Amino acid sequence: MYPATFDYSAPATIDEVLHLLTEHGDGAKLLAGGHSLLPLMKLRFAQPAHVVDLRHVSSLRGVRRESTALVIGAMTTYAELATSSDVRDAAPGLTDAASHIGDPQVRNRGTIGGSIAHADPAADLPAVMLALDASFVAVGPAGRRTIPAADFFVDLYTTALAANELLTDIRIPVATARTGSAYAKHPHPASRFALVGVAAALELERMSARVQRLRVAVTGFGNMPLRAIALEEALLGKTPDAEAISFAASRIEASAADIVEGEFRLHLARVCAEQALQKAAERAQ
Ligand SMILES: Cc1cc2nc3c(=O)[nH]c(=O)nc-3n(C[C@H](O)[C@H](O)[C@H](O)COP(=O)(O)OP(=O)(O)OC[C@H]3O[C@@H](n4cnc5c(N)ncnc54)[C@H](O)[C@@H]3O)c2cc1C
Repeated sequence: MYPATFDYSAPATIDEVLHLLTEHGDGAKLLAGGHSLLPLMKLRFAQPAHVVDLRHVSSLRGVRRESTALVIGAMTTYAELATSSDVRDAAPGLTDAASHIGDPQVRNRGTIGGSIAHADPAADLPAVMLALDASFVAVGPAGRRTIPAADFFVDLYTTALAANELLTDIRIPVATARTGSAYAKHPHPASRFALVGVAAALELERMSARVQRLRVAVTGFGNMPLRAIALEEALLGKTPDAEAISFAASRIEASAADIVEGEFRLHLARVCAEQALQKAAERAQ
């Protein structure tokens, strides 16, 4: 299928992008890596009158370390994330996820901003963002605002971003010395999207090495990423040994109640949770 006809701009600055979004209103659509938008346009599920390509906006690219946060430009590709030492140091769970998205073509073009704004229920990064307690910086005609990941994913392919807003940066709190994160996924054999993916970020108490902070988020349970609260409660205050991790992982089912049908998916979720928790705990030590 060919897309419907559309006009095309490739601005170089954020101000120009905002100007185009204001000028063309609901008829405009931002283009990042194009791996989700272009298939939708070819199928004519999306028919924007004006495509605003972000590829020349260099200020939207790259990873930088601030004192309390890792700041990632929305146009940073998965391949750049997967090979960034700053990402690996501050948020190794994001390295895990970015390294296993799709295939090399997808990783070389797909962007963190595109993945988050698209909010595909089978995407890897939304769950990772939730576990890492990330927040998203958006700019629009009303100015700039920061949206916590917990408030950002609203429903299937639906986020808190307005149509005339541009996602510019992803901010991830910098991990302390006793913090570790990890992501484990079971990919669909054809698409490589996650059938189930589990992201874990935990912090150990300095003296006792017990878990004092834990966030676990799941992709593959319903319309959007979900915190596995019952699992988190089962491991908080415990030493993260194999037995405690195995028991906590089994509690992931409680988060799936009424959403997930099928023993196979729940089994995958338990296995992925165990793998992610083990790796996060090792990294925290
Ligand atoms: C073969 C294949 C395999 C894949 N496998 C996986 C996988 O294993 N895991 C996974 O998570 N994903 C997978 N994907 C999806 C891939 O990650 C997409 O790249 C991603 O969903 C969208 O990112 P993009 O940069 O391509 O965005 P685009 O397709 O360009 O845009 C997607 C949407 O986000 C909007 N958007 C983009 N950037 C911004 C911004 N800065 N501000 C506001 N809105 C914005 C666009 O307007 C559009 O609505 C796969 C895709 C393909 C084709």
